Amino acid sequence: MQQFDTDERQTLILDTVDKFMARHMPPEEARRRDEGHVPPYDLLPLMGEAGFFGLPIPEAYGGTALDWYTVSLVQERLAYHAYAVGSIFNRVVGFGAMSLLRYGSDAQKADLLPRIVEGRCLIALALTESQAGSDAGAIRTRAVRTDGGWVIDGSKTWISDADGADYLLIAARTDPGSEGPKGISMLLVPRGQDGIAMTPIPKVGNNCMPSWEIALDGVFVPDSALMGEEGRGFGHLMSTLHYSRASMAATVTGCAQAAVDLAISHARERQQFGRPIGKFQVIRHRIADMQMRVDATRLVVRNLAWLISQDRDTRRLASQAKVQATESLQFVTEHGMQILASAGYAAESAMQRYWRDARLYSFGEGSNEIQRDIIAKELGL
Ligand SMILES: Cc1cc2nc3c(=O)[nH]c(=O)nc-3n(C[C@H](O)[C@H](O)[C@H](O)COP(=O)(O)OP(=O)(O)OC[C@H]3O[C@@H](n4cnc5c(N)ncnc54)[C@H](O)[C@@H]3O)c2cc1C
Repeated sequence: MQQFDTDERQTLILDTVDKFMARHMPPEEARRRDEGHVPPYDLLPLMGEAGFFGLPIPEAYGGTALDWYTVSLVQERLAYHAYAVGSIFNRVVGFGAMSLLRYGSDAQKADLLPRIVEGRCLIALALTESQAGSDAGAIRTRAVRTDGGWVIDGSKTWISDADGADYLLIAARTDPGSEGPKGISMLLVPRGQDGIAMTPIPKVGNNCMPSWEIALDGVFVPDSALMGEEGRGFGHLMSTLHYSRASMAATVTGCAQAAVDLAISHARERQQFGRPIGKFQVIRHRIADMQMRVDATRLVVRNLAWLISQDRDTRRLASQAKVQATESLQFVTEHGMQILASAGYAAESAMQRYWRDARLYSFGEGSNEIQRDIIAKELGL
C-alpha cells in the first residue's frame, strides 16, 4: 500500500531499485547467500554504478546531493527486496558516508567520499569491547602518541564486516588519564594494517553480515588517521549513530513489509478445513494488526526522514523510530511464523530468516532500553 506520494524523480529511483534487486538479488539469491553466509560485498560496486550510494553525497564528491527523505525511501525499498542489501546500504551510507561528511578532514573526504559513491569503500565501526557494550564509553583500547601518529593496542568485539571493510573506524582512548566518554578519539585504520588479527564470531542470524572479534597489537596509524577532534570522538560517534539509527529504522520497515506480504500471500493460498486460512478470523485479525503496526512505523520513519532533510533536531525521534521499527519487526515476524507454521519453519522460507534476523535489532545499534533512556532524557527526565 502506498501511503505517501513520491515525486517523478523518486518514482524513477525506486523503479531502478526494483529492477536492480530483481536482477542481482532475487529471492532465491537472498536465500542462497543466507544459507552460505555470503555477504553482498560483490554488489557494492554495482550499487555504486546504479547511483545508490551517491544519493546523499555532495556533487563535489561525485554524488547527487539528494535529500535524506529520498535516501530513506531507497533504504526501505532495498530492504523490502533483501534485508542484507538494505542493511549494507545502511552501513555504507548511514554510517560510513555520514561519519565522513560530518567529521572527516578535507583530505579524508576528498579521498574516500568519491570511493563511497562508487561502492569501493566500506567502513566498519569498531567501538564495542567485551566489557563495553551498552556502556560504550567504558572502552579500554588505547592509542598512544608516537612520532607522526598513534600506536593502538586493545581489542574489539562484534565488529560487523571487519573482514570485508576497507577501513576500520576504531574508537580508542587517546587521553591516558581519561575515564568514560571523554578522551576517546576516532581513528580511521586501513583493514590490512600490521598488528590487526581477526576471529569470526558464529551467530544465529544476519548471516550476510559477518561479525568479528579483533585484536589490536601495536597498530601504527599516522596523524592523518584522526577523524574529528582528538578526545571528542565519542560525541562525534553518538551524533553520527543518530543517522545510522534513522537509516536502520527505514531498513527494518522494508523488511517488516516483506514479512507481512509473505504472510498475506500464504494466508490466501494455504487451505485448511476447506478454505484459505486467511478466512479464519484469528488469522485475518492477526494480519490486520501486523499491517497496522508497519503502517504506523512507516509514518514515524518517513516523518523522521523528512525532518532530517529539513536539518531539524531529531535526536529523540531517531531513537523513537529505532525502537518502534525494531519492535514492529519482531511483532510481525513472530506472528508471521505462527501464520506460516511449518511452512515458515522450513529453511527454504524467507519468514524464518526475517524472524532470526529481527531478533538482533532491539539490542543492536544501541539497545532499545538505552534508546528509551535517550527518549526520556530528551523529555527532560
Ligand atoms: C550481530 C551484531 C553486530 C554488531 N555490530 C557491531 C559493530 O559493527 N560495531 C560495534 O562497535 N558493535 C557492534 N555490535 C555490538 C552492539 O552494538 C552491542 O551488542 C550493543 O550495544 C549491546 O551491548 P551488549 O550486547 O554488550 O549488551 P549489554 O550492554 O551487556 O546489555 C545487556 C542488557 O542490559 C541492558 N542494559 C545495559 N545497560 C542498561 C541501562 N543503563 N539501563 C537499562 N538497561 C541496560 C541492555 O539493554 C541489554 O538488554 C554488534 C552486535 C551484534 C550482536
